[in-house]
Amino acid sequence: MKLLLVEDSQRLRDTLAHGLRAAGFTVDVAGDGVEANGFLAAFGYDFVVLDLGLPRLDGFGVLRALPAGGARPRVLVLSARDQVSDRIEALNAGADDYLVKPFAFEELVAHLHALARRPAEAQADVLEHRGVKLDVQAHQASVHGRALNLTPREFALLELLLRHRGRVFARAVILDRIAGSASEASDRSVEVLVFGLRRKLADAGCENLIENRRGAGYLIA
Ligand code: CA
Repeated sequence: MKLLLVEDSQRLRDTLAHGLRAAGFTVDVAGDGVEANGFLAAFGYDFVVLDLGLPRLDGFGVLRALPAGGARPRVLVLSARDQVSDRIEALNAGADDYLVKPFAFEELVAHLHALARRPAEAQADVLEHRGVKLDVQAHQASVHGRALNLTPREFALLELLLRHRGRVFARAVILDRIAGSASEASDRSVEVLVFGLRRKLADAGCENLIENRRGAGYLIA
């Protein structure tokens, strides 16, 4: 799989590029956003590992230059620990995942492999994970074979999180995707929705399926 690594710290860039090549990726490297956009305009990539703080053009500038859909590479953002708002902004700008610096190299590889699994899941009509089964066409949910009675919004939320496993969804993004035209919708209503869905899952024997990333949003890992 082909990967573009965008990182301005030469030391980190060299270390990561070396490790990623050893892990089987074909790696190009860029040291700033302008250089990254040059590579992205010229070549196709499966992944972009993108630092946010970059000279000349930052990571947001790179995200904005990517096409919205189609053959777009999946983007994993590297971000400093204290910049929660940056992570949220990056996810909302189209990043698929993020990793907080400092991170273990194995963690980066695990995130990339999780991202690589997504395309097949994005098409599937039946989503299964940890005993939870969602038949999207038939609109049926079950846990270990026992039917789960979900509201349309709970079903939509579970589908969203299962379909994009490993991706963190900010409350605002969840609202946008599933709340539809409800005018009373708010961050608080997302919390209530998640709470209700978690309780139903737990009652059916599936605890802690939906994780809360403090300040960032929700995911199914
Ligand atoms: Ca940087």
